Amino acid sequence: MAYHPILEKQIEKFLSPETLSSEPVQALLQNISKSYTSFDRDRKITEHAFEVSEQEYQRATKDLQEQNNIRQQSISKLKEAIRSLDPNAPQEFSDEDDDLIHIISFLEKQILNTKQLEKDLINAKEYAEKAALAKSEFLSVMSHEIRTPLNAIIGTIMLLQYQDLLPDQKELLNVMEISSENLLSLINDVLDFSKLEEGKIIFAERNINILHFLKNIKMANRVKAEEKGNLIKIIFDDDIPEFVVGDDVRLGQILNNLVSNAVKFTKDGTIIIRVELKKSTKADVALYFAIEDTGIGIPKEKQSLIFERFTQANNNITREFGGSGLGLTIIKRLLQLQESEIYIESELGVGSKFFFTLHFKRSTTEIREEAKQHGDLKFNLAGKTILLVEDVEFNVMIAQRMLKNWHAEVVLAENGEVAVEKVKNNTIDLILMDIQMPIMDGYTATKKIREFNHSIPIIALTASVITTDIEAKAIQLGMNGCVSKPFNPNDLYAIIAEKISV
Ligand code: ADP
Repeated sequence: MAYHPILEKQIEKFLSPETLSSEPVQALLQNISKSYTSFDRDRKITEHAFEVSEQEYQRATKDLQEQNNIRQQSISKLKEAIRSLDPNAPQEFSDEDDDLIHIISFLEKQILNTKQLEKDLINAKEYAEKAALAKSEFLSVMSHEIRTPLNAIIGTIMLLQYQDLLPDQKELLNVMEISSENLLSLINDVLDFSKLEEGKIIFAERNINILHFLKNIKMANRVKAEEKGNLIKIIFDDDIPEFVVGDDVRLGQILNNLVSNAVKFTKDGTIIIRVELKKSTKADVALYFAIEDTGIGIPKEKQSLIFERFTQANNNITREFGGSGLGLTIIKRLLQLQESEIYIESELGVGSKFFFTLHFKRSTTEIREEAKQHGDLKFNLAGKTILLVEDVEFNVMIAQRMLKNWHAEVVLAENGEVAVEKVKNNTIDLILMDIQMPIMDGYTATKKIREFNHSIPIIALTASVITTDIEAKAIQLGMNGCVSKPFNPNDLYAIIAEKISV
């Protein structure tokens, strides 16, 4: 009979074979051996259990450490991100602060702030949009309201010019014409100054007879010049092409301003309007303009300042001569927008010279040349029928008289609806279409006419200053051009002649 090895050793050591052969002793030894064996088993189970829990403990500790590392890294990344978003964030928590709850509540606060900011921004944007809309509506309404009566004045002057007048009356009429045109350009200045500030001006491309143009500028300033004992001279290069293409209104604004400043700051002196040909290629003409005077001059240190907004060289000057200090700012901006720069040379008590070079395109239109060479008599629309769509009676009268002077047949319509009917029932060569009219406006009328007639030229008439937007819309709707009221008879004739090829 085999016993537990430890018991076997003890039996060998302490029991004699006789004692071992006794049955009760053997029964006792068997029980003891069983106890040994079960003790061994229990011990192994306990040891195993202990080993397993130790391993688990190690693994759990390692997991925890890893998680802690990740957490620390996330917190520091989070802090970094918060700091880059908000430079004031470090005041809210320190570098050592690893309280995620604190950071999260800080973030919550930030998100709320951002949401509020977003709301405020949306409100501000809506407000700004409304303000911009109100401003552009105001500009459009004002430009219409102011230009309508002015249109009537300029139109009347033009009609009077067709009459036989005494030389004195002609002279007075010229002064009236120039002054009303000045008033018009002043209104244009004020109305589109904001456009200019935003750099949104689009420069028109029209034929300009430079010499004729300079003479007009001289004429416009003549009365003031004479009052101050000044003489205005034009010095003009003979090789300058007769016509160039550019924005006559803007060029007029620049030159008029410079000449009127020269007149204002000179007494018993001379003002020279100098134009030289700088460069001439097939497509491009560069002209150098200089306005020179023998007036009070501008001190060196003030010479760059006078181009700033609302700045004048000397406050006493303002009292004596008036002015807003805006003129040179507008000129500088207008030239910059045409890639040109204005310069000044001046000496106190000697005089001033303002000069710049401006690029123009070469003119390709021959109508103007013809009109110029043969005078107004060449304007001939005999045999042509023009539909004039206009609601303001005075405008109708002016345009109708102009057209009749050119021997055109004129059909009238007081609004778009009547115009559509007239086109259906008459043979019309060209339509002059006002934009703003009651019952049906010019845009809608054009759309309706284009449903059944694609070929008849339609020219938009607008009293708005900012014609470029209107022109784009007019063309998009099927119109063929745009004339701004009050129209210059030459411009009106040129566009009509171009569209119906007379
Ligand atoms: P305004 O003439 O309306 O005051 P400008 O911007 O045209 O504004 O001119 C700014 C200032 O520059 C004038 O007030 C004047 O001090 C000075 N200035 C402009 N042109 C001349 C000139 N030809 N001679 C002397 N000073 C001039």
